[in-house]
Order: sequence, then structure tokens, then C-alpha cells
Amino acid sequence: LYDLVIYNCTCFGPYTQIIYEEAQQARPYTNIELAREATQLAAGLRNLQIAPGARILVMMPNRPEVLIAYQAIARAGAIIIPVTPLLKAPEVHYIAENSAACAIITSAALVPMLQGALANLPTIRYIIAAQAAGEAPRAQPDNNLQLLAYQDVVASGAAKADNYLSDLEGVTVSPDDTAVILYTSGTTGRPKGVVLTHRNLIANALNSVGGTAPHERKAEVQLAILPLAHAYGLAISNIACLSGARIIMHPRFDVHAVLSAIERHHITAFSAVPAMFVALLNTPDTEKYDTSSLQTCSSGSAPLATEVLQSFEQKFQCRIREGYGLSEAAAILTTQPRDAAPKPGSVGVPIAGVEIQIVDANGKPMAVGQTGEIIARGPSIMQSYYNLPDETANALRDGWLHTGDLGRLDEEGYLYIVERKKDIIIRGGFNIYPRDVEEVLAMHQAVIESAVIGIPSANMGEEVKAFVVTRFPVEAEALMAHCREKLANYKTPSQIEFVDSLPRNSVGKIDKKELRKRHAI
Ligand code: ATP
Repeated sequence: LYDLVIYNCTCFGPYTQIIYEEAQQARPYTNIELAREATQLAAGLRNLQIAPGARILVMMPNRPEVLIAYQAIARAGAIIIPVTPLLKAPEVHYIAENSAACAIITSAALVPMLQGALANLPTIRYIIAAQAAGEAPRAQPDNNLQLLAYQDVVASGAAKADNYLSDLEGVTVSPDDTAVILYTSGTTGRPKGVVLTHRNLIANALNSVGGTAPHERKAEVQLAILPLAHAYGLAISNIACLSGARIIMHPRFDVHAVLSAIERHHITAFSAVPAMFVALLNTPDTEKYDTSSLQTCSSGSAPLATEVLQSFEQKFQCRIREGYGLSEAAAILTTQPRDAAPKPGSVGVPIAGVEIQIVDANGKPMAVGQTGEIIARGPSIMQSYYNLPDETANALRDGWLHTGDLGRLDEEGYLYIVERKKDIIIRGGFNIYPRDVEEVLAMHQAVIESAVIGIPSANMGEEVKAFVVTRFPVEAEALMAHCREKLANYKTPSQIEFVDSLPRNSVGKIDKKELRKRHAI
């Protein structure tokens, strides 16, 4: 299997099937249709003189064309740069410039914004736009950018791509070639391009399925709503494609669309981020949908409050298995093993091939139960940050990835995430983990969710501030009293700000950088 799939990081497995649903319409694709269109698009890209090693942005809401474009770019020997469609002009400009990309594959609705954003970049030559049904074609820009229709590029490759399993003429892709440059979402700084090879991605997908053969998993029906431009969504879709699951794909997360899809398609597996579990939990009338087909829910990418996990499991009668990872590890480092009951509060054990250690500030391994930085090594760890040698040397030391996350291991090797190093609050010399405070706030019946940050303080260095979304009005003092009952006084927020919602990045992760900015205004 390894030899078969190493050929291409985004290979569609033997049983892969995608059903794309939008606005009550469904478009089904077989694995043959997906592979054929990808091969034709790859040949079309070659016709445009796009050479192996060239960088191509893919910026579209979730739809099958995203995965088709990923595979096509890989087959053409070029490098995929996934970009979330939520980015604004200066943010796309930054990524296109930083990666010196030559083209972008996008959806027609984004073309006007992109024509402006990419206008003065010397390397970008093509905007290739997929049109949704009923969408009008866009006018040619009056600059050096050429606007092409996605379908025309596919059609132009048709003649050269009759055998969708053989190599494209003049292109050899090897396992250690760069497959993807994944720009991290930048919740802690400017996005950095994480360089991943085909081997990195395939190793991650294969090791995450724990050695199960595709035919053993083909009965799985997955609901794909995680953004395909993000490491987590990309990893989950690679696993689904490789293992031949049937994928029900939606362009975006919508509570009722999700519940209805679970009922209609008998979804068995649902991977999501904590914000989605919170939304499902807080929706009334969910019992009118039959969700009994659900067998596994997976959560990752941000902390899942124990309170949320337990209430969700009770309401939907389905286990949530929490995992942990990061873009720099081609996403998944740990998961809860399938054959054992998950340990509450833990993010599971390392996937096959991955080693995890906890180290102190000097890089020395720490004992079981002690909290320190999580470091990891294995076949899916990134090659570098694109064109950033200092940041790379800081993150990759002696083959170990320093994650910047704090955690501890128990005697059975289960990992517990404590906090991001950068998010720790130091108040009067005491370390405070925002997650501890958020967990306690989540126990109050008025609280839907919260985000805790450190704010500058002349006396203490930092003070604790909580941004809180509530179900019904509550006094800040009542929440502080609730915290004081369960937390040391120094951890209790001295400021509480009530908000309607929390700012989030493309994958639904709370954007604490934005909250710090808001506080400073
Ligand atoms: P940037 O690195 O630019 O700040 P980012 O952190 O959003 O962006 P990602 O690779 O998307 O980059 O996220 C990885 C991070 O998400 C991890 O380092 C960790 O802090 C957090 N994370 C992932 N899974 C979990 C989890 N189960 N519990 C808590 N945190 C998690």
C-alpha cells in the first residue's frame, strides 16, 4: 500500500466516493471521476508551462475541486499552497508573494478580490476560476494576470491524460519532493510556510489509521466540514481518501445541515473542532434528527473543555476522541486508540512512528507526570519553514520538533496538553494556564464559552482577563465568585468582558492575538 500511495500525497483510494452537498443539491463523484479530472487538470497545468517545483495557491471553500486541484498539482510535480477562502486581500498577497507562486486555483466569487490582491506580483501569471452553477464568468483583468476557466484548463488536458494512472510526460514525483507548503494560521504571529513532502503526508495518513487496510474501513461514512485548507482538514481528508471512506462534503459548517446530513447519510465518523461541538451542543431541537449512526467523533486543533465533551457525549450518545497535532507535523501526532475507552482530559497516545518527549527549558527529558515542552519526532515532521532558516533551526533541533506546547505524559504514555507556551499568563511570578480558568468558567451554567488572556499590569506584570459568551445575563462578580470557589485567588480573572461571540481563525480556533489587540484599543 505504501508504494502505491507514496506516488502522490492526495491519491484517491480504491473505494473513495465524495458526495458534495450545497443548497439542497448533491453532486456525487466516484474515485474514477475524481482521478480522471485530476489527471486532466494536471495535464492542463503542464500545457500552461507550469513546471515541477512551481507553487500554486488553491483558495476555495470546501468542494471536490479542492481535492482534485491538490492531486492535480501534485501530479504535475508542482507544490500545493492551501489558502483559506476567508483571507482578505493583504493576507493572500503576503502568501502569494512569500511563496513566489505562479498561479491560483480559486472560485469565481473570489476573482474580483484576487484581481486586486495579486495585481502587482511579478510571479503570478494565472487565476484559474471554477464557476459554481449559475455564476457569471468574470471579465479579464487589465494587467499581466490571465483569467482562465477551471473547466477550460481541465478540457485542455483531456487529450494528454487518457491514462489517469500513469505518470504525466516529463514529470517524476518522488516521495521526498515538497508536496505542500502549509501557511500556519498565524494565531501567534505572521503566517510561516510549513514545508511538507509527499512522504510526510502519506506517513501521517497511514500511521493515523493505525495499519487498518482500506477495505476494513470502507464502511465508514465521513462528514467532511473541516476546512480543507487547514492542516487538520487536510490530514482528515487524506485519511478518508486513502482508507476509502465515503465522504459527504459540505462547503461550510451549519448546525442543521450537519444534523440533517448525519441522519440522511448515516454518517459514522465526524471530525470537528471544539467550536463545532459547542455549537451542536447549544442548538435546541437536535433530538428531532436521528444521529444514532454516529460511531466516532474526533476533536482536535484546540482545547476541548471537559464539560463540553461530557455534555456532548451524553446528548448525542457518541464518544469524542480527542487528538493533538500541528501543521509542522503534517497534522496528527496523537489520537485516542480506537480499541480502548478514551482517557478523559488526555489527547491520546502517539500515532505509529511518532515519538513524544516532555523536556525542560534546557531540553532535558522530564519525568512522567511533570509538565514541560512537548517535542516530537517521526516520519511526518516538516522539513523546514519556507525560507526561514532561523525559525527552522529553533523549531527543529537534533531531529526533534519543538512544538511550543506544554504538556505531560502519564505512566501509560497518554499525553495531556496543558497550554501553549505563548499563552501562559505570569501574574506576580505565578504561572497561570488560561485553560484551567476556561475549564472552570465552562462549569458555570450561564457560560457558553470563554477565552482567557493575560493583560499588562503595572503591579503584577500581567492580570487575568476573561472574554465570556453567555446563555443568559449574569453579573461579572458572580462569575468571579464562581472562579474563586474552584481556583486559587491569583488565577481568578480580575476583568470579565461579555461578548456576543469570540473571534476565530479559519478552522474555528479562538484568536487570542485578536483579543489581546482588542483589549489594547
Ligand atoms: P500559529 O502556529 O501560527 O500560531 P496555529 O497554532 O493555529 O498557528 P496549527 O498548526 O493550526 O497552527 O495549530 C497547532 C496548535 O493547535 C498546536 O500547537 C496546539 O497549540 C493546538 N492544538 C492542537 N490540538 C489541540 C488539542 N487537542 N488541545 C489543545 N490544543 C491543541
